[in-house]
Amino acid sequence: MSVPGPSDPTAALETLRRVFGYDAFRGFQAEVIEHVVAGGDALVLMPTGGGKSLCYQIPALVRDGVAVVISPLIALMQDQVDALRAVGVRAGFLNSTLDPDTRRLVEAEFVAGEIDLLYLAPEALASRGTLSLLDRGRIALFAIDEAHCVSQWGHDFRPDYLTLSMLPERWPDVPRIALTATATSATRTEIATRLQLTGARHFVASFDRPNIQYRIVPKREPRKQLLSLLRDEHPGDAGIVYCLSRASVDKTAEFLVANGIAALPYHAGLDAATRARNQQRFLREDGLVMVATIAFGMGIDKPDVRFVAHLDLPKSVEGYYQETGRAGRDGLPSTAWLAYGLQDVVQQRKMIDSSEGDLAHRRNLAAHLDAMLALCETVRCRRAQLLEYFGEPATGGCGNCDTCLEPPESWDGTVPAQKLLSTVYRLDRERNQRFGAGHCIDILLGKQNDKVSQFRHDQLTVFGIGTDLREAEWRGVVRQLLAEGLLTVEGDYGTLALTDASAEVLGRRRTVMLRREPERPARSAAKPRG
Ligand code: ADP
Ligand code: ZN
Repeated sequence: MSVPGPSDPTAALETLRRVFGYDAFRGFQAEVIEHVVAGGDALVLMPTGGGKSLCYQIPALVRDGVAVVISPLIALMQDQVDALRAVGVRAGFLNSTLDPDTRRLVEAEFVAGEIDLLYLAPEALASRGTLSLLDRGRIALFAIDEAHCVSQWGHDFRPDYLTLSMLPERWPDVPRIALTATATSATRTEIATRLQLTGARHFVASFDRPNIQYRIVPKREPRKQLLSLLRDEHPGDAGIVYCLSRASVDKTAEFLVANGIAALPYHAGLDAATRARNQQRFLREDGLVMVATIAFGMGIDKPDVRFVAHLDLPKSVEGYYQETGRAGRDGLPSTAWLAYGLQDVVQQRKMIDSSEGDLAHRRNLAAHLDAMLALCETVRCRRAQLLEYFGEPATGGCGNCDTCLEPPESWDGTVPAQKLLSTVYRLDRERNQRFGAGHCIDILLGKQNDKVSQFRHDQLTVFGIGTDLREAEWRGVVRQLLAEGLLTVEGDYGTLALTDASAEVLGRRRTVMLRREPERPARSAAKPRG
């Protein structure tokens, strides 16, 4: 029997079957592999779970030499290498966790061509020692995993990724394949430019994850809402709960444990050993809930994550998509649930205002937040809006998101919007004072409290003119006006302020359609509590 050569297109398929035990390629894996095996550069965009790894692992086996895989996930390198070794692939890694003896051994294997894949952290390429090591071996290809880490706008930015632009100068004949699950065309262009991949062929998969059910609910008592979700719909399931702050991660994990749910915390404030232990337990045990900041999750390959819950608003649609994408990699039905409230908007606007960086940077952050808010407040299919954001034309409703399953009513909120904006206008004249959304709503509802008395706000003409709406409905009005740019927040105290567009509403030149606030949280309302 003849051994297939590198230019033989059946070599890839034969390797897939023999080594990995799969029957057929998925999506455009075959095209990517053929292109890279033939020596071409590639930029691969595929959703999480799409099967990116094989796109470089198979060329690594088919081409001569060792594939150098750049990955930011030091904590996972051991697992990745172990998984390859388990199917008989010769692989190794070099990073700061290795003892000197093991390091020398791996280096020798690389030079001798006794391994097919070598995993490296990006910072390694800044070291002369590593560069001269790479010069002594034969490199089959460079794979740049999690390539969006080169993007300065994303929250995963790693400055070391910028040094990867030197690869084509130093190794002009070695093909490169960059892979990411981050999808916007802006990010794609940025990756191509920064990694000097301008001549690379782009492979862009559909970003739809049909088995994930998207739901975004108004935040009331977030931990209790979360608990009902877990008890009613996901008892005993593995899942991830994202919180913005370390403190809220700790509190939420404690709350879940106190309520009989097996939950573990994960954030950058925990020591490395605890983080590693919790991550390992989450990966290896069944039915654990990981409560985490966004520091957790990149590269986590756990197929049966049944839900991803956000207790705080993600900063961008990209972040939301990536985080929710960790659910349901096995293709089975899964839930992406987000509780979102007025306070999220106030807090994030504040963070943007006080962020380091120039005006352009802050504008960019604000644009990302606006897109996220638009997704939260839409009355359209969430999936359609999500896919369109990533440049995929969507066809009708998906039937598997909250707005498709229980279409929200919209109502003419022009008059309430005018009432609210007039209140903000009147308060705005008391220049040195700070009045947030809560105080405005108290005035509209005619509540006699200390602050109202202190500032004599019961004397305002707007006092008590909003009793036709409930407090929760007023919060919805504020949130939606913020999302539409008809209102803004300023300063450290989340003071409401008018925008240029507010005048159109106050001057009756613009109608405001609002999404009806559900009386009770969607779905779980129908089921009895256990
Ligand atoms: P990604 O890196 O894109 O998130 P992975 O490469 O980890 O995805 O692949 C996700 C899962 O799909 C893995 O369990 C992998 O073994 C499996 N997989 C990938 N390609 C195929 C294929 N052609 N046939 C069957 N399973 C596949
Ligand atoms: Zn839908």
